Amino acid sequence: MAFQLLDSIQFVPGVGPKRAKLLNKLGVKTVKDLLFYFPRDYLSKISDKHIADLKINDIASVKGRITGFDTKGNRFQKQQFRVFISDGTGYITLMWFRPSPWLIKQFEVGKEIIILGRIQYYYNKLCVIHPDFEIVQEKEKKSFWVEQDILPLYPLTEGISNKVLRKIVKNVLSQKLFLDETLPEYIRQTKQLIPLNEALHKIHIPDSEKDIAVSRKRFVFEELFFLELMLARKKVNWHKASGYSMELKKTYTTKLKRALPYILTDAQKRVLNEIVEDMKSPHQMNRLLQGDVGSGKTIISIFAMLLAIENGFQAAIMAPTEILATQHYFSLREFLKNFGLRVELLLGGVYAGKQNIKEAIENGKVDIVIGTHSLIQKDVNFHKLGMIVIDEQHRFGVMQRLSFTQKGYTPDKLIMSATPIPRSLALTVYGDLDVSVIDELPPYKKEIYTNWITASKKAQVYEFITKQLKMGRQVYVVCPLVEESEKSDLRDATNTYKELQSTIFKDFKVGLLHGRMHNQEKDEIMFDFKEHKIDVLVSTTVIEVGIDVPNATIMMIEHAERFGLSQLHQLRGRVGRGAYKSYCVLVAYEPISEEAMIRLNTLKETNDGFRISEVDLELRGPGEFFGTKQSGLPAFRIANIVRDRQILEDARKLAFKIIQNDYNLDDEKNSELKQKYRKYYLKRERLFSY
Ligand code: ADP
Ligand code: MG
Repeated sequence: MAFQLLDSIQFVPGVGPKRAKLLNKLGVKTVKDLLFYFPRDYLSKISDKHIADLKINDIASVKGRITGFDTKGNRFQKQQFRVFISDGTGYITLMWFRPSPWLIKQFEVGKEIIILGRIQYYYNKLCVIHPDFEIVQEKEKKSFWVEQDILPLYPLTEGISNKVLRKIVKNVLSQKLFLDETLPEYIRQTKQLIPLNEALHKIHIPDSEKDIAVSRKRFVFEELFFLELMLARKKVNWHKASGYSMELKKTYTTKLKRALPYILTDAQKRVLNEIVEDMKSPHQMNRLLQGDVGSGKTIISIFAMLLAIENGFQAAIMAPTEILATQHYFSLREFLKNFGLRVELLLGGVYAGKQNIKEAIENGKVDIVIGTHSLIQKDVNFHKLGMIVIDEQHRFGVMQRLSFTQKGYTPDKLIMSATPIPRSLALTVYGDLDVSVIDELPPYKKEIYTNWITASKKAQVYEFITKQLKMGRQVYVVCPLVEESEKSDLRDATNTYKELQSTIFKDFKVGLLHGRMHNQEKDEIMFDFKEHKIDVLVSTTVIEVGIDVPNATIMMIEHAERFGLSQLHQLRGRVGRGAYKSYCVLVAYEPISEEAMIRLNTLKETNDGFRISEVDLELRGPGEFFGTKQSGLPAFRIANIVRDRQILEDARKLAFKIIQNDYNLDDEKNSELKQKYRKYYLKRERLFSY
């Protein structure tokens, strides 16, 4: 039976309408879609691993014989299904919780089985929980997949098993449909990539580990390469986009320079220079400003805004949350109090005075506006917006970054991230932007001695804190929650405050700060802490950004095992801002997961935010790292930008070189690229365009 690439998957032998529906759910609508539905992993029968050689935490493929199985638990407990296998060198237990009858039915003592999974210890036995497995069907007639040494494992949905998918894939591949090559020969040659049709075959039906490696490499490269082509074109577009040419008029900017109580670091000077040059040019600035916590990004962004203002423009700051916007507002107003500029805060929702502020913005009476994405709402109009600072915190996406331009403004944009962005993300999510990096900390910034302890050792920490308090220093105690909740026994800020105030620190002044307080109340507390009217500030994570108290030398974080790595680093950055040696004590409560342990140890070992963000990305993966799906992070079919970082660098270099010489891919030798680009990427590029 013949079918074509673009035919519905339904007409492939072995599919039919019912399975076609399920496959559609997986995004497989056509025959071609199926070819590009890649295995997530493989089971190998030729694994030479013996059970006796397995190490804990290995992801291993092993072959053995089923020696028995049992079911434990009843309908009140979590049911456990265990299968015991042996390969002559040792035993291993496979374990499933809440097994389906269909799963249990498959096992038979004496049968040979291959498994794939992470080796663990459970009650002193080697074990694999919920492994991938394949029972070797000896009795069956010899058929294609029985003969194959390596079996693909696909992402599945209920009703579609690996066996079914393999059969369908095999049926499609045996048709030898020919797909047009999408990578030009000269690229395949220099990058040593196999042809498309060969790669498609090998990725589904590999005969060896090498087949898997070479086919994967081809597709990973291709995926990243086309993304980078798009980013390269976007970057060229940014550079062509007309904006405003600012002039260094040296009014407000010079005034700020004179008012600074310190001198800028060399890195700050260099970065400021890059920004000023960019703002002077007639094109729009689209620049990412990177630097570790405390490297002094804020002051740089204020310079940039003042440059726009001295050229007769308005400037704005867009923050990811109202709390952060409010904090920016108060610190900026304080900072610029002698400048005679009007700084306003614009929040979401309806409140008294908002209409007046909006009118003042529209009439050009407001110089700097601070807000959240409320700033890009339809009814907010600027008189002459020339500069926008986007405080990203990894939360805004490309789309929002662009909405200003969609409103018809062409401001220069400075995108700031609270903690350093790992290189792999800087090359993808932010890959179209110019980048300025502050790679030096101000001289006052000291290493913060960091350690972590289990909760049982807290008494010693309190003793140490008391000593520091007696020396005249101040302390932060950070808790994960505001108030006690019935469901959780986490140490909440309110109770911790009450307890510390009445017992351990009763001779000192203890204060409480959390996000549910009114702004004015919060300000008063922060002010009192700054003025040293408070010794110990118990707080939720609202202190993450904003306050700067050089006399505070200890940060104690309760339930540190619950916080993300970058967030802990960010919190820690609140101390170590003065002349005194500073400390961060992370208090962890059992059970402490392995991953939490890595986080805690990483903080103990290093103060380098760039390194910390790399570890964070590795632990959480790109999607989680950004926190939302709206991150602008493209969905990758096969590439993993952390693991495939080298290929990413390589693909980017080539893509940028090609676009530099042949923006429209008109060159004959790039015709394959042009075809695929127009079909799949041009629309995406326009979506992100201005
Ligand atoms: P970031 O936003 O990069 O985390 P900030 O801009 O908040 O860092 O700066 C942290 C602190 O360092 C602020 O109190 C700021 O006034 C101070 N600061 C910035 N630059 C310098 C410098 N060159 N020398 C001394 N202190 C500085
Ligand atoms: Mg800052």
